[in-house]
Amino acid sequence: MAAAVVDRPVSVVCLDIDGTLTDGVRGPALPGAAAATRLLRAAFPVRLVTNTTSVPHGTLARHLQGLGLLEDPASLLTPATVAARVLPERGHDSGILIVEPGAREDYAWFREDPDGPAVVLATEAHDLRVADLQPAFRRLLEGATLYALQRNRYFRKGDALVTDLGPLAAFFTYASGVEAETLGKPSALLFDSIAAECGVPRGEILMVGDDAEFDVAASVALGMAGALVRTGKYRAGDEARVSPPPTLVLESVAALPALLGIA
Ligand SMILES: [Mg+2]
Repeated sequence: MAAAVVDRPVSVVCLDIDGTLTDGVRGPALPGAAAATRLLRAAFPVRLVTNTTSVPHGTLARHLQGLGLLEDPASLLTPATVAARVLPERGHDSGILIVEPGAREDYAWFREDPDGPAVVLATEAHDLRVADLQPAFRRLLEGATLYALQRNRYFRKGDALVTDLGPLAAFFTYASGVEAETLGKPSALLFDSIAAECGVPRGEILMVGDDAEFDVAASVALGMAGALVRTGKYRAGDEARVSPPPTLVLESVAALPALLGIA
C-alpha cells in the first residue's frame, strides 16, 4: 500500500532500532513500538535498518523477534549485511578487519590478509589502543580502500553518550588522506538495495529514526522522506539543527501508523 506523507507517496517504511524501537540495541521495546511495528508490517514492506556493529545479525534478529518487533530475519539490515554483499562484488573480501570479537561471526566471508585490498572499520574501537591501529594505517598509505560500516558521531550507551565509528574513520582519514566509503545508513548503496528489493523508487521510502543527522536529514538529502522521533538520542531542538529538515517529527514511533492512515 502507498500512503501520503506531506503530499508525497510512501511505499516502504524503514525503521531505525536503537532509540526508535528499543531502549539500547539489546534493550527492551519502547512503549507502543511492537504494536506500531505490527500495524506497519500489515500495510507496508518494513525494513529494520540499524547501524549497530557490536551485535551479530543473528543475535539481534532473535532479540527483536522476542520483542515482537521482527518477523523475517531478512528484513533486518545491519552494515555487516551490506558489507557481505558489496565487498565481495568488488573483489574487496580480504584485507584488514577491525572488529569486536563478539561480532566476528558476521564476517566469515572476509579473509584476513595484511596485504589485502580492503581496510574495514567495523567497531567503535573503545577497547583498542592506538598502537593496534597502525597496520591498517600503513596499509592505507599503500593504497588499500577504506570502508567504514557507518560513520555516526556518537550513540547512547546506558546513561552516557559515547563516540561511534565516525571518529575512528576520521582518525584514519586525517592520518592517511584516504576517505572512507560508508556502507550503513545513510549510504545510497543501502537504500538503493532496499528500493530494488521492494520494486519502488528510492524516493518512496520513509526512513524513521532518532538520529536527526544520519537517519533523517541524510535520508531527505537522498530524496527520501525522513521522520524524526523524539526518543532515544533525540535532544530538544535537534530538528532545527539539521539541514535539510525532517519531513515529519513524531513524539515516538507509536504515533506513526495513525499519521500514515493505518490506525
Ligand atoms: Mg537510533
